[in-house]
Amino acid sequence: MSDSFDEMEKPPAPPVRHTSTRDAHNMEHKPLPKEPDSKEERKKVKTPKSSKVAKLKDMEKPVISPPSNFEHTVHVGFDSHTGEFTGMPESWAKLLSNSNISITEQKKNPQAVLDVLNYYETSTKTEESRHKYMTNVKPPSADSMHNALSEKLNIVVSLQPPSKPENSSPPTPDDVDEEDNEAPPPPIATRPDKTKSIYTKPIEVDEKPNGAISTKNEKPKKKKMSDEEILEKLRTIVTIGDPNRKYTKMEKIGQGASGTVYIAVEVATGREIAIKTMNLSQQPKKELIINEILVMRENQNPNIVNYLDSYLVGEELWVVMEYLAGGSLTDVVTETCMDEGQIAAVARECLQALEFLHENHVIHRDIKSDNILLGMDGSVKLTDFGFCAQLSAEQSNRITMVGTPYWMAPEVVTRKQYGPKVDIWSLGIMAIEMIEGEPPYLNENPLRALYLIATNGKPDIKEKNKLSPVFQDFLDKCLEVDVDKRCSASELLKHPFLRLAKPLANLQPLILAAKEAQKGH
Ligand code: ATP
Repeated sequence: MSDSFDEMEKPPAPPVRHTSTRDAHNMEHKPLPKEPDSKEERKKVKTPKSSKVAKLKDMEKPVISPPSNFEHTVHVGFDSHTGEFTGMPESWAKLLSNSNISITEQKKNPQAVLDVLNYYETSTKTEESRHKYMTNVKPPSADSMHNALSEKLNIVVSLQPPSKPENSSPPTPDDVDEEDNEAPPPPIATRPDKTKSIYTKPIEVDEKPNGAISTKNEKPKKKKMSDEEILEKLRTIVTIGDPNRKYTKMEKIGQGASGTVYIAVEVATGREIAIKTMNLSQQPKKELIINEILVMRENQNPNIVNYLDSYLVGEELWVVMEYLAGGSLTDVVTETCMDEGQIAAVARECLQALEFLHENHVIHRDIKSDNILLGMDGSVKLTDFGFCAQLSAEQSNRITMVGTPYWMAPEVVTRKQYGPKVDIWSLGIMAIEMIEGEPPYLNENPLRALYLIATNGKPDIKEKNKLSPVFQDFLDKCLEVDVDKRCSASELLKHPFLRLAKPLANLQPLILAAKEAQKGH
């Protein structure tokens, strides 16, 4: 009897990915993540929201100022017989030829190709992003930077009927092209780079009379805040005083591109807290930081990494928040194999955070394992609110393209208006991370991944039949392409899969195993 009790108290170490123990635990259905793309690498190069747009700032300081009401209209045609686009900007043609999207796929869904090209280019049109995704593309010259800027101002993209009327019949999946396998595979970006978040300029979507979707990248209507305005705003938010008196023993625990994270002790209470310090002069997108602080401050919840305080210290902004010692969920999904009870527990906690945010009209927009932090007790908390959107009564839908490609809902990728349910789709993708260790299409070129999300909708789950029916149904409910049919967070909280949830303490062995595995890397 005491043996079985002991066993309950001290469960065996969880199966670890990358090791032979996987087989011993009958987890052979779990694929090994790509060895070279370790979590460490992924963490090391994770780009901050700031640098995601860093070069954009450079581009916003052109030598020659662009015309103010410039509109660049791209009318691209598609000949379904030759499988060629006409009138496509050269930069897009280059991206496309490197994308590994086959001619057959282009024929099958040319509008999706244009959508993702336009989306992809607007979200990555910086030297850094080019390196990030397309390592073979040379940095742009000063001239091309200026051209890029001009093109970025207003781009209208629509699929025009092809010039020859006889070619205008819609392409069918049967249209096979023998050139399919001719293009050499593009350089595949590594996992760390590809899992970075993206934020693009606002986009206006019109439905054209002929049914073609036209997408218009508008200059943001809101004027960019000046550095002084940002500081002014921050001064109204932060606490006056010297945080060094309130917190001691600061020790660095992490580095994001927007700042450094320290663990510290709050003198008055002795509790451990985390402080993120950000050098404001190095933040190209300071508005996002203000957004992050305000949303964190106003949305306190047990399933959210709670904001505690903030300070201006010289040129630095210090954000004090709860400290979570267990690392991120990415550590766990990449290093260990979770069972359904553990996955259900994490899903429930995340859904509680999402239900709370959505009730408060906030969309997180960047749900992925990297943004879930764990406490050593197994607590699960959502973080990284830099990308979230506060919806107003007048605007309950968004059109800005935000998130990380592999986790993005089809309605985001295809540039439709979207709402809080994009977070539910991303949660479904995160559930796949918990099953397989990584999101679908991670081995694909990001552009092709976007195409596949737009075209395939619900991704295939390897060995789905090995999952319990109730888990399969939960995944189907999250990964429903039809937004109206996709469940809300509140509805999913009633899903029977969540009844499988084990107590949160059951996550502890996973956290410990992930930490142990990382020591070995
Ligand atoms: P950015 O937000 O600048 O893009 P990032 O999301 O990569 O960067 P940060 O939020 O700066 O990362 O965090 C850097 C590291 O610090 C991460 O590895 C994260 O796990 C850790 N970290 C962040 N916040 C906390 C916290 N509240 N408790 C414990 N660790 C944290």
